[in-house]
Amino acid sequence: MIPLTLAEIATVVSGRPHDIPDAQVKVTGPVVYDSREVVPGGLFAAYAGQRVDGHDFARQAVADGAVAVLATRPVGVPAIVVDDVTAALGALARHVVTALGTAVVALTGSSGKTSTKDLLAQLLEADAPTVWTPGSLNNEIGLPVTALRADATTRHLVLEMGARGIGHIRYLTGLTPPRIGLVLNVGTAHLGEFGGVEQIAQAKGELVECLPPAGDGGVAVLNADDPRVRAMAARTRARVVLFGESADADVRAEDVSLADGRPSFTLHTPSGCSDVTLRLYGEHHVSNALAAAAVAHELGMPADAIAQALNHARSLSKWRMDVTERADGVTVVNDAYNANPDSMRAALRALAAMAGGGADGVPRRTWAVLGEMAELGEAALAEHDAVGRLAVRLNVSRLVAVGGREAAWLDMGAKNEGSWGEESVHVSDARAAIDLLRSELRPGDVVLVKASRSVGLEQVAQELLAGP
Ligand code: ATP
Ligand code: MG
Repeated sequence: MIPLTLAEIATVVSGRPHDIPDAQVKVTGPVVYDSREVVPGGLFAAYAGQRVDGHDFARQAVADGAVAVLATRPVGVPAIVVDDVTAALGALARHVVTALGTAVVALTGSSGKTSTKDLLAQLLEADAPTVWTPGSLNNEIGLPVTALRADATTRHLVLEMGARGIGHIRYLTGLTPPRIGLVLNVGTAHLGEFGGVEQIAQAKGELVECLPPAGDGGVAVLNADDPRVRAMAARTRARVVLFGESADADVRAEDVSLADGRPSFTLHTPSGCSDVTLRLYGEHHVSNALAAAAVAHELGMPADAIAQALNHARSLSKWRMDVTERADGVTVVNDAYNANPDSMRAALRALAAMAGGGADGVPRRTWAVLGEMAELGEAALAEHDAVGRLAVRLNVSRLVAVGGREAAWLDMGAKNEGSWGEESVHVSDARAAIDLLRSELRPGDVVLVKASRSVGLEQVAQELLAGP
C-alpha cells in the first residue's frame, strides 16, 4: 500500500469522515476485511455479511491497530463512511494503481486461473518484486484488496479475474486497467450461471476488449488451442501473442510427455528454446505453464530463465493436485479445491498416468474418489455420466462416487461404460468414503480426491493423510 492520509482516502472514495481526530494521519498498512487479519497502520473494510456484520468488529479492528474503518455507517471509532464499501475499495485501488503506474497483468479463463497465476507469480518474482492475487481472491472485493498491496517497489502486478456473468470482467478491468491480458480457456465452469458456453466466451473476452492498442503496449495473450479464445483476437486492439501446442503458437510446447503424472516438454519462445520438467502433476499444467511463459516472455524474461523458474515452481494454493505419499506407500492426490468437467478430465488423466509401473513394473491401483460438479444446470446429468465413463476408459482401477444424485450419475456412467460392478461404488458421504478406503487401500495405491468446493471432499484427503 502506498501511504495515503485519511483525508486523501476520503476524497478518493467520496466518503464522509466520522470520529477522525486527525485526517492527516496516514494509512500505511494493508486493507483487510477480516478483522482477525488487521495489521497496525492498515485500514479495515467493514462488510455486512449473511452471518456476521463487519461493523460489529470495527472497535476491535481499531484496537488492533487499524488507522480507521471503511464503513456504511458511523461506528464510534475513526471511520470513512461511504454508501458502498465495494465501490469505495474499487475507487481506492484504481487511484493507487494509476498513481504507481505499475504494469498490470490480468488473467481469466474457466479453469486454471489460480494455477497459472501462481506459476506466473513465481516466474516474475524471479525477475523483480511482484504482487499477486493470494488464492482465488478474484472478485470485486478480492481484486482491489490485492491491488492495494502494491507499493513503489512493485514491478509486476498479477491479478486473477473471475467472472460469474456478463460485465464482471469489464468492471474489474475498469478498476485496474491491464496492459497485458491473458485468457486461458473457455470451458463449462459456472455454466449454469451463464446460460451457455458462448455467453462464457463473451464474458471472458471482455478482458481483451479493454486492453490498450498495440502502439501503446497492449498485449493479448491467447490460447491457440482453444478456438473460442483464439477468436478473441478479433475483439482487441492489442497485439496478439498465441500460446499452446498448435504449430503457429508464438510460445509453444513440443515433445510433451507425462512421466508419473508430471509433464516434461521443450519450451519454444520467439527468443529461444529450453527444456522444462514441471513439479506439478497433470497434463493441463502444460497449457498453464505456456500461458505463464508467454506473459513472462512479453515482460522481457529469456527462455532459459523462464524454464528454470518453471522447473522450480510449486503450487502456492492448497488442495490443487497436492500429491503426498504416506509412510505405507499410499499416494493421496488432493484436488478437492474445486471441480468442473474440464478439470475432472484433466485430473483423471493425471491419475491414470500415475499408475505407471510401480515396484516390479506392476501398475499401481488407482482410485478416483469423486463428488458433484456443481453449477452445471441442465448439463449436469450428461456431464457426470461422461466423467464416470471416462474413469473406465482411462483404466482407473476403482471409482468411489460420494454424495447424492450427482454421485449416482457418476456411478451409473462407470457401470454403463464398462462391465463394471463393484469397481464402482456409490456412497452417501465423506464419512462412508473414508471407512471404505481405510479398509480397502493397499500400499502403492494412488487415490485422487476431487469435487466442487461445496462438497468439502478435502476431509477425505485429510483423514487419509492422517494415517492408514
Ligand atoms: P476458480 O474459478 O475456482 O478460481 P481457477 O480457474 O482459479 O478456479 P484453479 O484453481 O487453478 O482454477 O484449478 C481448478 C481446477 O482446475 C483444479 O482442479 C485443476 O486441477 C484444474 N485445472 C487447472 N488448470 C487447468 C486447465 N488448464 N484445464 C483444465 N483444468 C485445469
Ligand atoms: Mg481461482
